[in-house]
Amino acid sequence: MKLELIFLGPPACGKGTQTNMLAEYLDFPHIDTGSLLRTEIAKQSKDGIIAKSFIDKGQLVPPELVGNIIKNRLTKEDCAKGYILDGYPRSLAQAELLEKINSEIDKEKAVFKAIYFDIDTQILIDRIVNRQSCPKCGEIYNKKFKPSKVENICDHCNVELKTRADDNEEIAKARFETYYRETAPLIEFYQNKNLLYKIDANGSINEVWERLIKVINE
Ligand code: AMP
Repeated sequence: MKLELIFLGPPACGKGTQTNMLAEYLDFPHIDTGSLLRTEIAKQSKDGIIAKSFIDKGQLVPPELVGNIIKNRLTKEDCAKGYILDGYPRSLAQAELLEKINSEIDKEKAVFKAIYFDIDTQILIDRIVNRQSCPKCGEIYNKKFKPSKVENICDHCNVELKTRADDNEEIAKARFETYYRETAPLIEFYQNKNLLYKIDANGSINEVWERLIKVINE
């Protein structure tokens, strides 16, 4: 049966690392709205220029912009047996739009899971300001907690690691405010529908992975 997975949790809770691993494990597309928007910014497309002005303030980009991106992406053939959505939905309106999109594209009944990464938020700003990623394979590193073998170089691709423009303390604080105001209400939204799967996201990458796999196979 088709498996639709969405992920909730505050910025830098480890969703990106785990969903990258999960996409490979399940052979599902990993659809990460933040990365899709950063690609638009790099191309300096019309959407990218609009998105940048919101991302630079730690705010959500307008719902129509990201809604169109998601709708186009979820109708692609590679989503037929399932998908991993990382960073969408991020508000109640987006969650309702996703339900509508799914009801339009699903040919048969699908299993939907909203996986919530429950984490101690005190460590997260420190994670954000030290975060780096590989522009080629998407692997996420951290100068303090998960450094690359050679400073600033990806272990797999041998290319220079990048730091996201919005990974600084000031924008990170605004992103947390946005998360608590707009996205955190989704925890209750999905709980009320019996679709919420909460995992403890504190601990090592392997510990969180074990907990995640358990929930996926439930
Ligand atoms: P992320 O890479 O998930 O941390 O997202 C980076 C930024 O992209 C966020 O702070 C938002 O400005 C924007 N963004 C990502 N996903 C969404 C979404 N579903 N709705 C609106 N804005 C988003």
